[in-house]
Parts: sequence; C-alpha cells; structure tokens
Amino acid sequence: MQELADNIKKWGLSLGFQQVGITDTDLSQYEEKFTQWLGQKFHGEMNYMEKHGTKRTRPDELIPGTLRIISVRMDYLPPDTEIFTVLNNPQKAYISRYALGRDYHKLLRKRLEQLAEKINDVGIAHGYRTFCDSAPIMEKPIAEKSGLGWIGKHTNLINSKAGSWFFLGEIYTSLPLPIDEPHQRSHCGSCEACITICPTQAIVGPYQLDARRCISYLTIELRGSIPLEFRPLLGNRIYGCDDCQLVCPWNKFAKFTAEKDFYPRNNLHTPELLDLFAWTEAEFLHNTEGSAIRRIGHDCWLRNIAVALGNAPYNIRIVNALQNRLRDSSPMVKEHIEWALSQQMQHATNV
Ligand code: SF4
Ligand code: SF4
Repeated sequence: MQELADNIKKWGLSLGFQQVGITDTDLSQYEEKFTQWLGQKFHGEMNYMEKHGTKRTRPDELIPGTLRIISVRMDYLPPDTEIFTVLNNPQKAYISRYALGRDYHKLLRKRLEQLAEKINDVGIAHGYRTFCDSAPIMEKPIAEKSGLGWIGKHTNLINSKAGSWFFLGEIYTSLPLPIDEPHQRSHCGSCEACITICPTQAIVGPYQLDARRCISYLTIELRGSIPLEFRPLLGNRIYGCDDCQLVCPWNKFAKFTAEKDFYPRNNLHTPELLDLFAWTEAEFLHNTEGSAIRRIGHDCWLRNIAVALGNAPYNIRIVNALQNRLRDSSPMVKEHIEWALSQQMQHATNV
C-alpha cells in the first residue's frame, strides 16, 4: 500500500496536479464548527449546505465503504490578467480569476477519473468516486487533513509554497492506503490583512466567513435581489471577488498555471462593463459556453453589471445603456437598473 500511495502521488503530478495527499474519513474535529456555522445561518440561501445532514462530515455515510480520501490541488491563476488595472478601473468588469477560462469542474473531474483508473490499471481494484465541488464534501478540511495546507483566516486553503490560487478535488476510495501527516497549525499568525481588506466585512472573525456578506455569494449564489447595503461595496466586481486572496502575503509564493484551459476566454480578464451589459441572452449563452459563469444565468449577469454600472462615475453612455435595458428586463433586473440610474444621477450632481 505504501508503494501504491507513492505511485498515486507520482501519477497525480504527471496528470497536472501540483500536490496529492491522502487522509482517512474521520472529520469529527471539523463537524462541530460546521454545525455552528450552519446554526448561525452564515450559509444564507445555500440550502444544499444543510440538506445532506452528516453525509458531508462523515464521508463513509455519503459513499459507504470509503476508507481513504485522496485530496489534490491544481493551480489556476493565469499569467498577465491585469488584476489591479481592472479592479482600479470602474469602467471595467472584474471577474474572479478562477472563472476566466473553461469550467474547472469538468477538467478536474476528468483528471481525477484518470488518476482513479490508473489504480485499477495496475490490477488493484477499488471502489471509488471522484468529486470537484460537486457533492456534499468538506473539501478544505479534507485538504488540510491530507497535509496540503491550512485553512486561513479568510477560510480558503493556503499552502506555504504555493499560496491559495488553486482548485481542490477528491477521490473517495475503498483502499486502506497509508495516510499523510495533517497540516497541524495555521501560519496566519498575527496577520489580519484579509479581514481588513474585505469590502463587505464578510470575514466576521478569524476563520469565520458570513457567506451572506461575501461578494462571491452575492454575485454567484444569490438568485434574488442584492441587499442595498452591499451594492455600493461591490465596486466593479461582477462575478466573485479575490480581494482576500490578493492581499494575502502567502500568495507571493503562488505559481501561474500552465493549463491553457484556465486562460481567459472572450477577453473576460479585462472587459468593459458596457460591452458585457449589451450582451443579449443568446450572446451570454454563446460567450460563456463551457464556462462556470454560465450557471448564474443572464438575469443575474445583468443584475450584477447593473450594480457595477451604478458604482461607476457619471457617464451619459452608462445612463443611456441602463435606460435602454429597462424596457425588456425582468422585475428583478429592472429594480437594480433603477437603483443604478439613481446612483448615476447622484454621481452627476456630485461632479
Ligand atoms: S471573497 Fe471578497 S467579499 Fe468574500 S470574503 Fe474575500 S474579500 Fe470578502
Ligand atoms: S491575509 Fe493574513 S490572515 Fe488572511 S489568510 Fe492570508 S495570512 Fe492569513
């Protein structure tokens, strides 16, 4: 089993993962914290978080027969995406850097399947299931317990040699593989940079995220109206937010991805808000084909861009674009456009 575990790690690297770790199914040390998080309603409308009971925290209840979990990470940050130029230009739209290219779910699941199949290929049959953000899985605790890094105060996983710009994936397996040393302690120390920088104060305490305040939740998970108090704070972030990772000192060790599938498509790394706002639904579906962005749908896309346009300095082209969209928009989008128009009027009087 030790030789097999060593081989799994080698095969994982040759399949493009940056690191592979193995752990058992005992996540009891994380269960109470997760239950408390749910109890505080920090998950907002993400009902799927509470839907599966203890199947999330007890892997062998989700997939009976699971003995070990193989946890992997894959870097995703493409080079030259002009992060700060875009964030500092209110006419441009900022999209979280993990979502610029092809949908990562498919790529990671495919590689995980290949890794799991390699074990069968060497004549060791095992029951397995692969996951990437696709089932009730405690992926960050599993990664921490597998030795891939620690969960930082912003609640993302951090690796001391590679920062935090990576995806996680898992293979649940019936093989009794030897396990790796867990990551024992946080290296955040006295740093609180992520807590301070967060535009919406979503990190309500060290290691505690109120997802209902997080821009990733507000722009991606939330289907209805964005609460008024958060709209001005979104700035030009129209799909997710990276601020807590951008400020994290450990990301000076991050490596750019070599996966071409994660490179920006359709100029999504530096688009103009007005260009994106002009997309018809057909254009939205065409331009986001194969991308994770597509799942929020055209209405939420327009909702988010309308808020960003409301936050941009007064510009007659913005006012015209907002007014032109009013007629054919859903009530939810219309309400955000009206808010954006009132913001533009306020900016005009302040000029
Ligand atoms: S992603 Fe943005 S909004 Fe969410 S916690 Fe990090 S900095 Fe705050
Ligand atoms: S910014 Fe500082 S506190 Fe936040 S996760 Fe990084 S090291 Fe930890």
